[in-house]
Amino acid sequence: MISHYHILYRGPLSSCNYGCTYCPFAKRDETYTQLEGDRQSLDRFVNWVEQQDRSLSILFTPWGEALVRNWYQQAITRLSWMPHVRRVAIQTNLASRLSWLEDCQPDRVGLWSTFHPTETSIERFGDQVLRVLQSGTRISVGCVGLKEHFDLIEQLREAIPREVYVWINAYKRETNYYSPADVERLIAIDPHFATNNNRHASLGEACFAGEASFTVDGEGDIRRCHFVGEVIGSIEDTDWEDCLRARSCPNATCGCHIGYVHMKRLQLYPLYQEGLAERIPADWSPSRNARST
Ligand code: SF4
Ligand code: SF4
Repeated sequence: MISHYHILYRGPLSSCNYGCTYCPFAKRDETYTQLEGDRQSLDRFVNWVEQQDRSLSILFTPWGEALVRNWYQQAITRLSWMPHVRRVAIQTNLASRLSWLEDCQPDRVGLWSTFHPTETSIERFGDQVLRVLQSGTRISVGCVGLKEHFDLIEQLREAIPREVYVWINAYKRETNYYSPADVERLIAIDPHFATNNNRHASLGEACFAGEASFTVDGEGDIRRCHFVGEVIGSIEDTDWEDCLRARSCPNATCGCHIGYVHMKRLQLYPLYQEGLAERIPADWSPSRNARST
């Protein structure tokens, strides 16, 4: 019997206020009708969550940036006050206004915040991180580990309070991209970098995805994870839990944190515990993990 579900929600939204050159959502506009469709889908999802009696964590993994849309701010605020929602988290570039956090139950909210070196400065991003911390909201901060950004990533680590975990996503489009010295340098910032710098062999491996974790899209369709397209159920079904059961992975590898964190072999649930949604290891503390304090 599963006592807690990790839900990843991704609605139709697919636009962003930033312009990262490699990204299909960069500076993309959506029509009023498209945005209104996203708002209604989100509303349906939040209403469904409200009706449940199971303990839930929710991570929003939008295509593009959602926190610049006030309906996501309102949804997170509302979810943070639902007694059975242990955590509501979102992946964000942290560029939006943050005053809405004051209306949330702060220790129920987590911001998985990505620093984009071509779109903002460490100073501006760092000020936003401080605002989040002042509100009592949980936050992790990170960046893609491109070699040309190594110095900046180290500066980011120095600029952000030690109490904040800084993760680094490995650049995996080139094989053997990192030298052993590179890996050592990045592990000094993110002790869990080596786990991310890997496409984990997953075919036939037991995975909590589809059992204790699942994704929901704007139509309410349930899939085991973002990387396996098969629809296994719908939140519209009164017996939606019946579609969840122990499963093994049909894919050859799993290389993204929001996927492999659910692989049973990696045993990452004990590492992240209540910080799983917002990617904060349970044992993260400034004194244990700081390099120079
Ligand atoms: S912030 Fe994220 S979603 Fe927006 S353009 Fe950059 S990579 Fe794409
Ligand atoms: S290992 Fe990754 S791709 Fe496979 S089912 Fe789990 S989360 Fe999905």
